[in-house]
Amino acid sequence: MSKFSLAVHGGAGTILPKNLTPALEAGYHAGLRRALEVGQEILAKGGSAMDAVTASVCALEDEPLFNSGRGAVFTTEGVQEMDASVMDGRNRMAGAVSGIFGPRNPIRAARAVMENTDHVMLIGPNALKVARDAGLPFEDAAYFFTQERWDALQSTMKMRAEGIEDNDPARRHGTVGAVACDVNGNLAAATSTGGMTAKAPGRVGDTPIIGAGTYADNATCAVSCTGHGEVFIRYTAAAEIAARMRHAGQSLEDAARHVVMEDLGKNDGSGGLIAVDAKGNITLPFNCDGMYRGSVTQDGDFETLIYR
Ligand code: ASP
Repeated sequence: MSKFSLAVHGGAGTILPKNLTPALEAGYHAGLRRALEVGQEILAKGGSAMDAVTASVCALEDEPLFNSGRGAVFTTEGVQEMDASVMDGRNRMAGAVSGIFGPRNPIRAARAVMENTDHVMLIGPNALKVARDAGLPFEDAAYFFTQERWDALQSTMKMRAEGIEDNDPARRHGTVGAVACDVNGNLAAATSTGGMTAKAPGRVGDTPIIGAGTYADNATCAVSCTGHGEVFIRYTAAAEIAARMRHAGQSLEDAARHVVMEDLGKNDGSGGLIAVDAKGNITLPFNCDGMYRGSVTQDGDFETLIYR
């Protein structure tokens, strides 16, 4: 038997104390804590890493403070297009959906693709059909809407129109994710997002791309990323950590730090990631001001953090 461990994130970016009220800060900590608790409960009973990361990400999707599920950001056309993926380290099975709107928990739609189809990624009406056939709950636009995300779209569009859009992508992103190692040493990862505020319609980030935003392989690690998706895709961020461990014998921490600080950090790839290995080691590196993050281990206490 191994010892279990679990980590979650709620996005990284321009997260500074001056931008958060004490009440908001408390809300983020509470949201992360809830996500850890539901996953921890599953792992403590001997449940699978896959069930734990799915449950943790559902809790984060349900919390409107985070950019995924309820509270997802808007495209330039004022609609929400959600991306999500899961990967099981036992057998490298994976499932993903992209650009979807409707399922309350996009992560469960991604898992339904993995479990109920022969495919890894589905988009469009058939992705929704798979979710419906799996009996997943759907919600309407009023459920997913938040005034804060709408206002963020308006201010980004205004800055764009005035030609003063800040070129700091860290202001516009956010995502949720979970990684776990269960008592059997099995790893799993899950990531879900609304993408980036004022993204182009049809734009797909790293979140649903296996090897970019999400990866899990029992032989190395499970990874869930958050940040400027285009760069994470070009540097195959999540798979690169596993490759460094497999081929260069690097530790989880060294491999993850290299990818976040060098590959991404030096190439406009603001953001961070959470990762675990099969020994239950956890690492949570990021290269921007802050990352909503938390972890719990079999021996340890719950820990939730926001800033550097
Ligand atoms: N990586 C996500 C995307 O590019 C956004 C984020 O994680 O903040 O869609």
